[in-house]
Amino acid sequence: MKASKFLLKTQKELPRDADSVNASFLVRAGYVQKQMAGVYALLPLGFRVYQKIENIVREEMNRIDGQELLMNVLQTKELWQETGRWDKVEEVMYRVGNDIGLAPTHEEQITDIVRKKISSYKDLPLSLYQIQVKFRNEPRAKSGLLRGREFLMKDMYSFHANEKDFKKYYKSVAEAYDKIFDRIGLETKFVAASGGMFSDYSDEFQVICQTGEDTIYFCQNCDFAENAEISKIKAGDKCPKCNGTIKEEKAIEVGNIFPLGTKYSKSMGAKFLDADGKEQNMIMGCYGLGLTRTLATLVEVYYDQQNSKMIWPKSVAPFVVEIISLNKNIEAEKLYEELLDKNIEVLYDDREISAGEKFADADLVGAPIRIIISEKSIAAGGIEIIHNSKTEIVSISEIYTKL
Ligand code: ATP
Ligand code: MG
Repeated sequence: MKASKFLLKTQKELPRDADSVNASFLVRAGYVQKQMAGVYALLPLGFRVYQKIENIVREEMNRIDGQELLMNVLQTKELWQETGRWDKVEEVMYRVGNDIGLAPTHEEQITDIVRKKISSYKDLPLSLYQIQVKFRNEPRAKSGLLRGREFLMKDMYSFHANEKDFKKYYKSVAEAYDKIFDRIGLETKFVAASGGMFSDYSDEFQVICQTGEDTIYFCQNCDFAENAEISKIKAGDKCPKCNGTIKEEKAIEVGNIFPLGTKYSKSMGAKFLDADGKEQNMIMGCYGLGLTRTLATLVEVYYDQQNSKMIWPKSVAPFVVEIISLNKNIEAEKLYEELLDKNIEVLYDDREISAGEKFADADLVGAPIRIIISEKSIAAGGIEIIHNSKTEIVSISEIYTKL
């Protein structure tokens, strides 16, 4: 992509109404546009990062036999009355007239689909997921894309014939989440938490970060970790598992997985016949992962506020390489075409603007590899390549082995 054709519109000033590091950066650098509190449009730059995250999540869900579908935003009152949640979620669910609401989550609809399709143990287990917009009237929509009122989530639901099978799958989802966050470039802690309205407990994937809303306690020695909302432990205590020392940190919940037991299948009649021909309620699990929250978390973690500089992990960067030409457009154009031919995602800043402006914008685009072609670099034997804050001069032919 050439910068002259791309919607690359950064602003020098920080947005005055930004409520967080992520919103401030993403708005200023032209990744998103704010429509109202908690409602953001993803612009091409932001959408590129978003799609990278989405694809990683999709690949890992498919790998554990998740099947993608797409449910609906519009939900009927009758369906939600079956579980008694129509009244319970009144504050969170946006309503359209008296009988329709905008989905804040999809347990009811997925259970409705499965109860109509599955009746035998032979069709279990089954795991279905979607990547979709969710609506929640969040009273605390104040952390940019971390807490939206309209946001994107991957939600998966699994159905099992017995507890043992459920537990095995639950574990495989937790492992898939580890892979996802590892690939995305976020280090997560697996944290025990409360189950909310319909479950006894849940497990959260938390990214340690000063600006997080959650507080977690974890052992510095083993994998013990609890959300403050359920924990009786405090900083400095001994770990109940290994006697190590407990630490307290702020964190962002990027994913949350729940055992649902038979709560939904019972109230909605999602039953199956087991091998002995006996009718049983399906055992369910649900697995959420905030896609736009993950995007925002990456900014909170990777954006260097002091130097106004972003460097994205390669797996989610909007562009892997950015070429900056300082009055060497013929050479730059040639390299650009070659990289495109090799399927490398490259942004080429061909605009008629000052070098300073190009560098400032490149700091916001955050490509992990930057290539500068200038009089100076050519005199020194080729092009300047900057990666991991290391600068090298390499010849054009050497560049492909470098990349
Ligand atoms: P929280 O505790 O942060 O309110 P939750 O427990 O209500 O979240 P779930 O319903 O389990 O969240 O949703 C699954 C995932 O969706 C969360 O782990 C989070 O990553 C994301 N998520 C939840 N609410 C929001 C929101 N308002 N804006 C953006 N992402 C969200
Ligand atoms: Mg939660």
